[in-house]
Order: sequence, then C-alpha cells, then structure tokens
Amino acid sequence: MEATQNDGFASLGLDNALVGALNTLGYEEPTGIQREAIPALLSGRDVLGQAATGTGKTAAFALPLLQRIGRHEGDRPIRGLILVPTRELAMQVAEAVHRYGKPFETRVLPIFGGQSIGLQLRSLRRGADVVVATPGRALDFINRGALDLSGVEFLVLDEADEMLDMGFADELDAILAALPEHRQTALFSATMAPRIRALTKKHLHDPVQVTIPTERTKPGTAPRIREVSYIVARPQKIAALARVLDIEDPASAIVFCRTRTEVDELADMLVARGYEAEPLHGGLSQEQRDRVLRRFRESKVTILVATDVAARGLDIEHVSHVVNYDVPSSPDVYVHRIGRTGRAGREGVAVTFAEAREQRLLRNIEHHTKRKIPVESVPTVHDLRAKRLEAVRSSIEAALADGGLERYRAIVDSLATEYDVYDLAAAAAKLADQTRDGAPEDEVDIPAVAQPRESRAPKRERTIGGDVSRIYVGLGRRDNLRPADLVGAIANEASLNSRDIGAIDIADRFSLIEVPSAQVERIVKALRHTEIRGKKLGARRDRK
Ligand code: AMP
Repeated sequence: MEATQNDGFASLGLDNALVGALNTLGYEEPTGIQREAIPALLSGRDVLGQAATGTGKTAAFALPLLQRIGRHEGDRPIRGLILVPTRELAMQVAEAVHRYGKPFETRVLPIFGGQSIGLQLRSLRRGADVVVATPGRALDFINRGALDLSGVEFLVLDEADEMLDMGFADELDAILAALPEHRQTALFSATMAPRIRALTKKHLHDPVQVTIPTERTKPGTAPRIREVSYIVARPQKIAALARVLDIEDPASAIVFCRTRTEVDELADMLVARGYEAEPLHGGLSQEQRDRVLRRFRESKVTILVATDVAARGLDIEHVSHVVNYDVPSSPDVYVHRIGRTGRAGREGVAVTFAEAREQRLLRNIEHHTKRKIPVESVPTVHDLRAKRLEAVRSSIEAALADGGLERYRAIVDSLATEYDVYDLAAAAAKLADQTRDGAPEDEVDIPAVAQPRESRAPKRERTIGGDVSRIYVGLGRRDNLRPADLVGAIANEASLNSRDIGAIDIADRFSLIEVPSAQVERIVKALRHTEIRGKKLGARRDRK
C-alpha cells in the first residue's frame, strides 16, 4: 500500500523527487484541477484554468513550473514568475512553491507592496529562481531596472479575475511586455468573464482549458441528507468541531481531512478531548486499517478521521454524520463523501467547515448540487446546556414510563413535609444531570466570523483566534490607503506574521485593524513613527 499510494501524482508525469515532497506533506492523490492541469503544463502547453481557492490550484501550477524550470543552479536568472493580486496570496504561494520545491532547492522570493523596497531589492540581488509578485510592486521594480525578467520561461497569472478587479490591467500589460515571447503561460481564474477571455487571447498561446471536472453526479438523485455549514477561523476549527460533535452526538461519523498529517493531528486532538476517534489514511498498513475499520463497524470507535483515499471503497453500511473538516476540493468530492450518509432511507447529516475565504467553493458546490447548504452559527454554550437539559428531561420521562418508583416514594414523602415538591423534583433533575458525563462547565463560546459586508469596501475579511484588540490609524480611504498597505506596514515594522492580523476596516478618514491583544502595545509602539506614502499613520489603541 505504502509504496503505491502516490502513483496518482507519478502517473501525471511528475518527477520522483517532487512526488517524494508531496508524500512528505501527506498528499495522497491529486485533486481534480491537478489531474487536468499538471500533464498539460508538463507537456509545455499553455493552460487556462478555472478554479477557486481551496481546489489545490496552487500545486496545479507550482509543481509543473518547478519541473519545467529545473533544479536550482547558481547564478541563473529568474525563470519562473507568478503574479498574484494580494500580498497575502504572494506569501502563501511563495511558501507553497518553497515547500514543493525543496527537493530541487528552488529559491523563491515574494515581492509585494507595503514592505520596504530596500529589503526586497537586497533579496533580489541575492538571486531567485522563482518570483511571486503583486503587479504594482513588480512593475515598480521593472521600471527601476531591478527586476530582470528576460530569462522567464514560465509565467503564472493566479486569480487573474481578482487582479483585473483590483485595477491591475495596465500593470499586467506592462509586465507581460517585459517578458520573453517564448515562454509558457498558465492563467487561473475563478470566473471566465469576457475580460479574462480577452486577456487569454492576448497573452496565451493555444491554451488547454481545464475546469474542475463536474461529470458523473446527477442532481436530484441525492439521498436524504441534512446539509449544514459553519464558517470558522482556522484557530477555532477544532473547538467548533468538538462543539458540533457534542450537539449532534453522532452514532457514527467520518471526519474528512485533506492530508495524512492533518488526519493524524486531528484524531490526536479529538482523543485528547475525550472522543472515541481513530485515524485512517494511506500511510497505515493494511493490518492497521483493518483493525480500525473493525472497531468502527463494531461501534467501538464513533469517529473515523480519514482522507478520501482511505475512505474510498469502505464497505460501511451507514454513517450518521459526514464532516468535511475543510471544504472539499471539488463538488464531486463533496457529493461522493456525503453519499456515505443518509443511506437506506435513514436521514444523514453532512457538516462542512469553511474558512471565510473558502465561501466561493461552498457556493460552487451548491451550484453543482442545486441545493442550498445553509450557513449556521456554531452552537453556543447555551445551546449545549439546553441540549443537556433536554436529555435529562427525556431520561426522566423514560424513568416515569418504566415505573418501579414505589421504593423512592418514601424519600419524597419524608422530604415533602419540609420542602416544596417542585424544588424536590428540580433537585432530583440536577442530580440526574450531574451523573451524565459530558461538557465541562468551563466551555466558552466560539467567536463568529464576520460575514462580508459589501457596502463597506475596502475591507480585509479575516479572523484570528484568541483575544483580539483593535488599532486605530488616522489614515483612510481618502488617503488611498489599502488593506495591503497596513498588513505590509505591520508585518514589516512590528514583525507580525500576516496570519496574526485580523479584519481590517478602512473608513473614509481612519482605519481599524484587529490584532492579538497580547501584542497590541508593541505594535502600536512600532507603528508610532511609520509613514505610508509620506503620511504618518498616527496609530493608537482603539478603546471602544
Ligand atoms: P489551494 O487551492 O491551492 O489554495 O489549496 C488548498 C489546500 O489544499 C492547501 O492547504 C493545500 O496544501 C492542500 N492541497 C493541495 N493539493 C492537495 C492534495 N492533492 N491533497 C491534499 N491536500 C492538498
């Protein structure tokens, strides 16, 4: 089993060393977009891909890019260029390319607005194989003569629709004019608007078109399944999953994760929280897999945490709950997964956790299944208590129906002379509640993730975990301030990872930024003298 599990990637034509890197990351098989785009790009063709975040599109272009440009060799010019709309994405994509490219020792450099030019110039001078850039900063560097793109063999336009939406059309044209004619180009976009078609016609050569395959599943044939989704920030996911499991109280559940590593980690965390959970993935021996499955079938384990590969072809009659710990990479995968519940006329439940940025994927699934997946708020502590009390109520009703109460009447008789009978009954109910195992009393509510508010752009939608404080800065929309400027300034001046920066709200004359409370003083201090485009930020802690 172990030796063959990454045949999926190898059969796409990928180099063994790259397949090895994917193995280390715990990827078991290619996603739909990877299966389509990788062979086409490896064969040297241009590709026009329609795919949103969460489909695995980064690997779909990064792996072929790495293979086509080859191993790192000293003193070679930049050979791969990836253009992305935001600083966030630049860092994310650069990190992914770095991880996938480890066996080739590929040097990757992200360049983006907001960070000091000097720093990025120095890094550029040290040399890079691949540059991941936002269009504004890339053009700035080209104009300064600091970014030589004459050796670029492989160009990626990632989230091209976003780049156009953000007004980067002119920058894109100018950058593309600075690239060699003979090169390979991949363009990825979540939508295929006419503007994207025009861009494609101008800059791609006879591209292979790839979309997430949507064959096979016919709408309307789905079993009876209650579908629900929760939007939660990554740091809150495990707590949200635990809360949902407590409320749903599944008889048997499969929780799907993307990678083997995630499966192992999540199963461990669930066990640590007292759930009967076991991992199932392609890295286990056949014997281990059989044992886990047997225990699951015999209801000795309630929760199976699994990858798609491991769960495929399982002959498990029925599970009461399917949980997507991440949004599945394609509607097909979603339909396939949730098909494991709601069998044999019984109602099943399909729960999907999504991060705010993955909502487009959810809508894509809804579009495909022609069913709405309602977004609900994660159950509160209050809900949990209500559920417990409901359970106590049913057990009291069951005891009444069972009878055999005679020998307890004496207790009631003796106490009733002194106490109110209602109080007596309530005390008995309290005892019944306390003898049930379950939620500890120190549970806290899980913060909701803000839903996008269209009218208040520009806003950066992002939530962070833990205690959050807000920083006020005296610049806003009137000063042409953009979220990326603030993220850049904070990351640069206060060395805060952009992942730790929460929502950014830009109003006309001021802006608010969410940061971890523990760091707020330090960040304010670091920003005190910072300027953006010649204007002082005037940062202070927002007291409201
Ligand atoms: P992307 O759509 O590129 O943002 O990728 C979404 C997530 O899926 C990232 O966390 C990747 O690490 C992960 N991922 C990409 N391809 C695979 C794969 N074949 N198997 C498992 N996870 C993957």
